[in-house]
Amino acid sequence: MGLTTVIGLTGMNVYSLYALHDNTVKNSIEKQKRQLLEFSNQVRSRFRYPLSDLRKIDMTNLQKQLDIPDHIPEELAEIIRKTSEDSLFSQIYLTPPDCRVCDRYGAPVWVYNKYIDRFEETKNYSPLVSDGLAIARTRMGTLANGYRWNARIIFDAHNSMTITLINSNSQEVVAYLNFLINSDYLVDNYMSPKLIKTFGSGSDTGIVVWLHNWTINDVLASTDESVAYSYQKVDFIQNFPDLLNDWNLKAAFSANPAIAASRASLTRNLFVLGGAVVLLIGAFIFMFLTAQRERSLAQRQALFLANVTHELKTPLSVILAAGENLSDGRVRDRNRIKSYGSHIYKESERLRSMIDRLLDVARFDTETVRIHQKWIDAADFTRNLLDNKRNFLESMGFTVHFDMEAELPEIRIDTDDMTSILENLIENAINYSPDEKHLAIRTYQNNQKLYIEIKDHGIGIPRNSQKYIFDKFYRVENALTAQTRGHGLGLSIVKDLVSRNGGEILVDSTPGKGSVFILVFPAHGQQKKSVTEHHEETNKSKETEHVL
Ligand code: ADP
Repeated sequence: MGLTTVIGLTGMNVYSLYALHDNTVKNSIEKQKRQLLEFSNQVRSRFRYPLSDLRKIDMTNLQKQLDIPDHIPEELAEIIRKTSEDSLFSQIYLTPPDCRVCDRYGAPVWVYNKYIDRFEETKNYSPLVSDGLAIARTRMGTLANGYRWNARIIFDAHNSMTITLINSNSQEVVAYLNFLINSDYLVDNYMSPKLIKTFGSGSDTGIVVWLHNWTINDVLASTDESVAYSYQKVDFIQNFPDLLNDWNLKAAFSANPAIAASRASLTRNLFVLGGAVVLLIGAFIFMFLTAQRERSLAQRQALFLANVTHELKTPLSVILAAGENLSDGRVRDRNRIKSYGSHIYKESERLRSMIDRLLDVARFDTETVRIHQKWIDAADFTRNLLDNKRNFLESMGFTVHFDMEAELPEIRIDTDDMTSILENLIENAINYSPDEKHLAIRTYQNNQKLYIEIKDHGIGIPRNSQKYIFDKFYRVENALTAQTRGHGLGLSIVKDLVSRNGGEILVDSTPGKGSVFILVFPAHGQQKKSVTEHHEETNKSKETEHVL
């Protein structure tokens, strides 16, 4: 359930992170498209700006003034002078409405000479003038009647701009003003720098804009010279409506800093989310494993209680029966009395040892155990303990081997603890060696540490059980364990005893071949002391007591 919630929430989070990133990308592209449209509008305004006074012209007045064409008509003076100063236009022509400039030999038109500030008649004019005029006439022809404004601006691609001046009262064409456009100036001095100012230059702006003459497939200007134009790269096209018909702006979008930042933040968020999910799943697994462990501990404790009760009951019932038989005085035979007595003694001894063990466990659990440590020659100590047990071991069919390196250092330990540790390990070696009965103990030193190895050739411990054998109540499940008395407490007690004396215990076991338990104690670099030295220190109350 928890895991499903985590997966669901993660899915939602990932979805919203992607949606957020997508939105940033879309917004950024939309913004760039708006900038392109705005750019196109600004180009249009650039043409219209010097003509802002057009609508103020009184066309009836202008019609009268046009009778003296070589003078600059007063009504047009302002516009003509302003545009003649503008580098965007190279020539300004004034043409009467009835002038047939498209005729074969061309009628004369008036061209403005800014140095003398008047129009001069000329027959020597660019064909662009007649082209522009022809287009304007055709357009006005289709618009014809009903046109409400006093001027109409018409472009001949990027070449010329023709203004038809109209008397809106009489619906008559008053004259044509023709401006030749300076394309080089327009591209190099206006559009190109403006493109770079608006969209930036270089690869990190997130957009490349080309000013393209589509009729001849020629790139006139670009915001990033390093990116060659190709039609496949184009994501968006912006036209210049009503002017510069054969040019347009072509744009290729890439990741700009905002998108890159959003992508970086997306990656970062995904990482953090991934980390959080891993942690959460880890926590779930940990909780699951802990719960499992708690359950199995509870099971083992219940089993242990059942075992203990059973184990306590068995000697108790023997003692009860023997005691009952003796107390009612019916048994008189000396040998039987002796046998009952020995039963009572043995079973009481068993009871005592079991209660001692249980008390040990309880004491370690409450962690208020006193220890009495002193420097001992652990190798000697082990050999003595083994010697005391040698007869018993041999009577059980064991061969015993003891090996000891010379000049071993002393270790600081509680001798009762040391006895319990060794007895437990030897007892296990006996219990779990049904066939090959061989016990070998070896003591040696390495790196200022003293090692005691207890090795048997018994049944060994399966690999996956080795890490649990020091847990309380854990017993490997096999036929031999089932037959062997035990509660899974011995090794847990051994581990506690070893660690409270500053050592550690390791196990190396191969199922079917045997086990080695290795005790490792810090030797603090102390070499084995001579007898006198040892004696002196003992006198100085070398023994210390700790409460753990
Ligand atoms: P137990 O009272 O069952 O012996 P221990 O804590 O001493 O409890 O040991 C835990 C388990 O580890 C045992 O039940 C046994 O399965 C396994 N074990 C311990 N020592 C040996 C050994 N020398 N050889 C094989 N198995 C062992």
